[in-house]
Amino acid sequence: MFAIAKTEAARGIWSASPHLPEAPARGMVVVDVMAAGICGTDYHIYSWDAWSAGRVPTPMVIGHEFVGRIAAVGEGVTGFRIGERVSAECHIACGECRFCRTGNSHICERTSIIGVDRPGAFAEQVTVPASNLWHVPDAIPDKHAAVFDPVGNAMHMVSTARVTAKNVLVVGGGPIGLFAAAIAKSHGARTVTLQEPNQARAAIAASLDLDLVLNPRDPGAKEALLSLTNGEGPDVILEVSGNAAAINAALDIAAPGATVALLGIPANPVEIDLGAKVVMKGISLLGVTGRRMYETWYQVEAFMLKNPDLMDKVITHVLPASDFHHGFELMDEGACGKIVLDFQAIGQRLSA
Ligand SMILES: [Zn+2]
Ligand SMILES: [Zn+2]
Repeated sequence: MFAIAKTEAARGIWSASPHLPEAPARGMVVVDVMAAGICGTDYHIYSWDAWSAGRVPTPMVIGHEFVGRIAAVGEGVTGFRIGERVSAECHIACGECRFCRTGNSHICERTSIIGVDRPGAFAEQVTVPASNLWHVPDAIPDKHAAVFDPVGNAMHMVSTARVTAKNVLVVGGGPIGLFAAAIAKSHGARTVTLQEPNQARAAIAASLDLDLVLNPRDPGAKEALLSLTNGEGPDVILEVSGNAAAINAALDIAAPGATVALLGIPANPVEIDLGAKVVMKGISLLGVTGRRMYETWYQVEAFMLKNPDLMDKVITHVLPASDFHHGFELMDEGACGKIVLDFQAIGQRLSA
């Protein structure tokens, strides 16, 4: 079958022809992939940074955010049938540890991730546990359903940070930041500001009807944010950039008592004056990872059903899966919002 894989331990990504998955084992399901989103995680693996070089074995079919139709079900699977349209939580938690058993499987230490630790979804077929599947309502189109995972990251962050009636600053305008800004608005934030130096991404943010879109390099940026927030600074900061200077600047401008949710992963350890910037200001720092299983999925489904226009604005490209190189080049340039790869043409070509 056609697949997109890390076949060499070096920068780049290549097409590959692994065997079709075997008949699914007990509790497992094989899904025909229809569409899949390119994630920041895939981009890390493409770039072969220190994190991915230390974590991902090669060869590895990558990709973890997808929608497809069930092609085969293993023994013991209930509630899912061949032909049904599904997405899937890409974090396969152990289900047995204290965290899993107390409703916190997003922080399970034995998590295995599709497309990172086991064969991924940038392929004609992917095998996942039935327990990770999510039925997709007919009203949600494929290109939206392909990105439950990153919208889920954004939803988890916004829900955890409790934005209702607050002045919110989103730091970073990649797809998760754009989704987070749109979700914060829909959750009743008083104001939503998005900060992003890349002009293509700032232009997408400007289309989301936010209160303010800032270029942090603009000398008037800080004044504009203070004037929007009654001189106090933002009450909630949603940090998705992972940029050390941006994190420090965000802590500087945060209002006393602010909640700062951190989702962006810095490339290196970050130095912060905790005494002045966190302790003395009474700041709450929140680390946010993955999605709550499966509360976040219900929330994302509702958001997608009610806001198809916002989804369309953040998803800027749908490319045939065979054009994946172009997708990664667009991410190199930062000239895009979310990119979705369409795998259906490939399936049709092979079966024709
Ligand atoms: Zn992802
Ligand atoms: Zn666990």
